[in-house]
Amino acid sequence: MAFELMPLPYDREALAPAISAETLSYHHGKHHKAYIDKTNAAVQGTDKEGQPLEQVIADARNSDQGLFNNSGQSWNHGFYWHSLSPEAKSPSGDLASGIERAFGSFDELKTRLSDRGAGHFASGWVWLVEKNGALTVEETHDGDTWADREGNPLLTIDLWEHAYYLDHQNARPSYLKEVIENHLNWDFAAENLQRGSTWKYPG
Ligand code: MN
Repeated sequence: MAFELMPLPYDREALAPAISAETLSYHHGKHHKAYIDKTNAAVQGTDKEGQPLEQVIADARNSDQGLFNNSGQSWNHGFYWHSLSPEAKSPSGDLASGIERAFGSFDELKTRLSDRGAGHFASGWVWLVEKNGALTVEETHDGDTWADREGNPLLTIDLWEHAYYLDHQNARPSYLKEVIENHLNWDFAAENLQRGSTWKYPG
């Protein structure tokens, strides 16, 4: 069975003006779709066909850069759509206490995500990850992913220009500020922490 472009978990207008409907239309309908289509084309008719996306990523990491990039980006975007929320939320429960232990405060975590995201050179992703019981902010470059790495990814933010250029032009910090203040899905992060294992791409 081929991988499918998962539907957005909200309307295309739901994240505006931080992320416009036009951006989501291209980002989901063109970029994410292309990564899925290229992953499907690469696995079709091979022994990888029918394997979970996370397995395809792990197997391709050190053996097939093209498939790794496309399968990693397929997963990253699915995870990113869920990492965003139309409404501003805030962490509670175990997630909130884990954030205080690791960063001192929620505000400090937001600053850390913003600084790491803004300082990241060229394309990639910034992540909140749980490793060995502690929370940490991490970065990956280009199509690299946390799907098959040690630790449990809780949230991610896309740092590629296609994620923000139509709305913020070159001002990545402005995109990060609006997303981090108003549109991160802390309920999704809490679910991931509670589950204690890496989120699976649907299908
Ligand atoms: Mn993207």
